[in-house]
Amino acid sequence: MAGIEPQPGIMEISLYVGGKSSVEGVSNIVKLSSNENPYGPSPAAQEAVRRSLHEMHRYPPTDHAALREAIAEAHGLEADRIICGVGSDEVLQFLCHAYAGAGDEVIHTEHGFAMYRILAHAVGATPVEVPERERVVCVDSILEACTERTRLVFIANPNNPTGTMIGLSEIERLAANLPERALLVLDGAYAEYVEGYDGGAKLVHARDNVVMTRTFSKLYGLGGMRVGWGYGPREIIDVLNRIRQPFNLSGVALAAAEAAVRDSAYVEKSRSENTRLRAWLAEALAEHGVPSDASTANFVLARFADAEEAAACDTYLQGQGILVRRVTGYKLPAALRITVGDEASCRRVAHCIGLFKAGAR
Ligand SMILES: *Cc1c(COP(=O)(O)O)cnc(C)c1O
Repeated sequence: MAGIEPQPGIMEISLYVGGKSSVEGVSNIVKLSSNENPYGPSPAAQEAVRRSLHEMHRYPPTDHAALREAIAEAHGLEADRIICGVGSDEVLQFLCHAYAGAGDEVIHTEHGFAMYRILAHAVGATPVEVPERERVVCVDSILEACTERTRLVFIANPNNPTGTMIGLSEIERLAANLPERALLVLDGAYAEYVEGYDGGAKLVHARDNVVMTRTFSKLYGLGGMRVGWGYGPREIIDVLNRIRQPFNLSGVALAAAEAAVRDSAYVEKSRSENTRLRAWLAEALAEHGVPSDASTANFVLARFADAEEAAACDTYLQGQGILVRRVTGYKLPAALRITVGDEASCRRVAHCIGLFKAGAR
């Protein structure tokens, strides 16, 4: 293979590790490792998929007009400033591809989502990690880390895997003080879980250096369909559309997402059940001596005494058929991220963690 070399940066990538979905020899698994909606997608989305199967031999539309219109109506946005991707991960990839390259810096925070680093390396840019303050994004640290080479600043709000978020005034302050050539990307993968939060849409309207990304993978229960979207200034959306493949989303995925975003009752129910059970779960864990920060998303970050105890608890839970997420790769070795499941799953995981803390191994 002498002479055949990948582009700079690619060999720096550590492969993304997803949440576990099975344990050998254990059946009746409760999967709380990937922040999926425990109730699945809206029945309307399932029906739309069944109908769309008759058109499988047809190429899908290239402009995603119907889906963008549905998103715009549901969220009160302008359809021509929306771009749809294969998961929001693809929109994040478009942003890196379009705005960063060799010699450029891409900022992400200490416990930020793993894809930011991967996507920066993939385009030869330099990922720059910025400290958080007690597992909360720190705007001052981000501003201090900015240089004339900064092109992109990624923050997830709410953040994964911490579950914490920062207020709109802090985000505004960040956007207002970024260097001229830097673009702020607000990853709103969990925005739907926060009552009354627009994910930063108003800030996108007010400024020309902010893009918001959203996904159908979490609250909408469509992780397997791979649909996400971005909202930004027209000029930026135009740039991203130039590098988007014309048929990036399948007809089946488009149909599912369009029906899901129109089913506002299902969204409401998923959000309120999550809020209720998240509070219950956090409280139950705290009673067992396992604290967590107030979460604004569909998971809690459970903190243990140390890395050893977190690892032992993870192993114990796996033996009980419960899968949660280790977050050592997110610099949180003493914590486990636990998705808020349905009521039975919440009770089961809290009960088992109680047994573990009481000495069961
Ligand atoms: C899950 C997640 C995403 C979205 O993933 P897609 O399935 O690609 O839409 C993006 N950002 C964060 C922080 C996430 O947790």
